[in-house]
Amino acid sequence: MRWVTLPGGETVPALGQGTWYMGENRGAAKREADALRLGIDLGMTLIDTAEMYANGGAETVVADAAAGQRDKLFIVSKVLPSNASRSGVAAACERSLKRLKTDRIDLYLLHWRGGHPLAETVGAFEDLKRHGKIRYWGVSNFDADDMAEVFALPGGSGCAADQVLYHPDSRGIEFDLLPWCDRRGVPVMAYSPLGHHVRRLLGSAALRAVAQRHGATPAQVALAWGMRQPNVISIPKAADAAHVRENAGAADLVLTEADLRAIDAAHPPPRRKQPLDLL
Ligand code: NDP
Repeated sequence: MRWVTLPGGETVPALGQGTWYMGENRGAAKREADALRLGIDLGMTLIDTAEMYANGGAETVVADAAAGQRDKLFIVSKVLPSNASRSGVAAACERSLKRLKTDRIDLYLLHWRGGHPLAETVGAFEDLKRHGKIRYWGVSNFDADDMAEVFALPGGSGCAADQVLYHPDSRGIEFDLLPWCDRRGVPVMAYSPLGHHVRRLLGSAALRAVAQRHGATPAQVALAWGMRQPNVISIPKAADAAHVRENAGAADLVLTEADLRAIDAAHPPPRRKQPLDLL
């Protein structure tokens, strides 16, 4: 497992687990928590969730998976933009803490930019940090100009991560956002690293050829590709145990320059500024 350094020096695993669509259905919750527990046993101890996912249901699944092992986990959750006012953030955080059955969220993100002034949200995040309810805060779906705005605010340089869409078919952030974050030591969390609707990306002939050279799978290559950069944390979601095992196997896969060139040829890097891709 590679590790990524947060501003301040703490390290987190470069490969974590997503939870979107978990907790939607009671009958599936045990299997989902089992999948997360398996992932934790395999070293994927960073777990990404959000109040939005299944209206809090995903946070409940995370609580089940975390039972008895909270201290080895790094839990990321997100506040909805509609709750991102000065008082709304604190109230949403309390609700998330309750569902997560924990006394602190390790990293609390603004899910995307909404109508509340950023200064209010940042002020609320800093208050939560002072009160020990969250350990770090960050943002999601913020482009380079949004990041510059955050950093210009009082307390804004406390921003510890930006979580954005990133996979071989969605590379726009390499043009400006990723270098911006690298320069400031702000980790980028790559969401939907398998392309969300996996079939298209995992069917890529280039990924398949690289996978074959390594005795790996296209999913492992896609994940290793995102994590080739020292500042990127990848958070694939898998409720299927076989997928979890396969994804964990990407942690130690190192792609060669020739592999990266082959992937570039089929999934070209951006040549100019592109609007931030969202899911
Ligand atoms: P992913 O790219 O992680 O793809 C998830 C899909 O891939 C699921 O259907 C899963 O199936 C399947 N899968 C997982 N592993 C494999 C594998 N090895 N081989 C084949 N299929 C596989 O998409 P997500 O959109 O879920 O993104 C990951 C996480 O990022 C989310 O769960 C969420 O935590 C976060 N996210 C954040 C967003 C934001 O706005 N901040 C937006 C979108 C995602 P199965 O479950 O059956 O194993």
